[in-house]
Amino acid sequence: MKKSVTVFRGDGIGPELVESVLKILEAAEAPLEYEIFDVGEAEWQKNGELIPQQAYDSFEKTRVLLKSPITTPIGKGFRSLNVTLRKKYDLYANIRPVCSNAAVKTPFSNVDIVIFRENTEGLYIGMEEKVDEDTVHAIKLVTRAASEKIIRSAFEYARENGRRKVTCVHKANILKQSDGMFLGIFRDIAAEYPDIQSDDKIIDNTCMQLVMNPNQFDVMVMQNLYGDILSDLCSGLIGGLGLVPSANIGADYAMFEAVHGSAPDIAGKNLANPTAFLWSACMMLEYMGEETCAKKIRGAVNRVLSEGSILTRDLHGTASTTEYTEAIIQALGRAE
Ligand code: ATP
Repeated sequence: MKKSVTVFRGDGIGPELVESVLKILEAAEAPLEYEIFDVGEAEWQKNGELIPQQAYDSFEKTRVLLKSPITTPIGKGFRSLNVTLRKKYDLYANIRPVCSNAAVKTPFSNVDIVIFRENTEGLYIGMEEKVDEDTVHAIKLVTRAASEKIIRSAFEYARENGRRKVTCVHKANILKQSDGMFLGIFRDIAAEYPDIQSDDKIIDNTCMQLVMNPNQFDVMVMQNLYGDILSDLCSGLIGGLGLVPSANIGADYAMFEAVHGSAPDIAGKNLANPTAFLWSACMMLEYMGEETCAKKIRGAVNRVLSEGSILTRDLHGTASTTEYTEAIIQALGRAE
């Protein structure tokens, strides 16, 4: 029997990515059926709604969402829909695996890091207050409950996936209470997992260490803003944003999306790399217990990447999104 998932088409390169990934899922015979909705800026301009009620209703029924990027206006306009969805459905764990691919040449090989980003608080609660014309306060919220949940999920993941170490990234030297509490909770929870090594690093030092010796890192756990920034940094280590997927997991709902944004500079040009979104769909299949199908797709992507003749422009190739999609579909039919 087919399982239902909700799909949000989003802005910018979103519709192209959805088209590509649904074609590949269909070719891989993923046992899924899709409830597809247009959401985001374009939908807002057309119908005055960012996310139509039917789209929310669908997600509340299927509880699994494959979401392509949505544009967030900079410095003005509506609150980030990504942030809204993560908060509304308490998708507290943002899990971002960053893994080198032998076919994509970068200064480092064997980068294999999984970032656990707290997803519901920190500076992303969007509480800003104008004190006077020249002064603004922004509130960074850190709670024991949310900190415990993300830190514990990082350790549980490490144990379940045979990972050796969890690193806490923070700025507790300056933010002694907020980050200090996060670090204290990390140390308490680490003591419950003697089988997993643990350490901690200050965010600025972490950035330097990541670009000099990324192989020292394994699972990393951090607050919301640090996770946002380090994810992009880490994606650069393995060849760019077109390659990093993510899962946003809560107790009742799960949402899967690429780490990158809506890339308006290449939207509608058939240039986008759909790999990050496709790998997000693979994480979704694994979450839904469809590991065999996910493995088949991952194998096909790796074959196309390692053959290296049909690559998108961000990976220094010349293929369009549709040519790359077609190559993956062809590779699905070929033996390992
Ligand atoms: P957001 O603020 O929504 O997270 P961002 O500032 O991280 O977005 P992106 O939209 O992710 O910005 O784009 C950053 C750069 O990476 C752009 O030049 C864009 O073209 C490129 N990029 C992002 N995603 C892809 C992709 N899937 N394929 C190719 N290039 C991409």
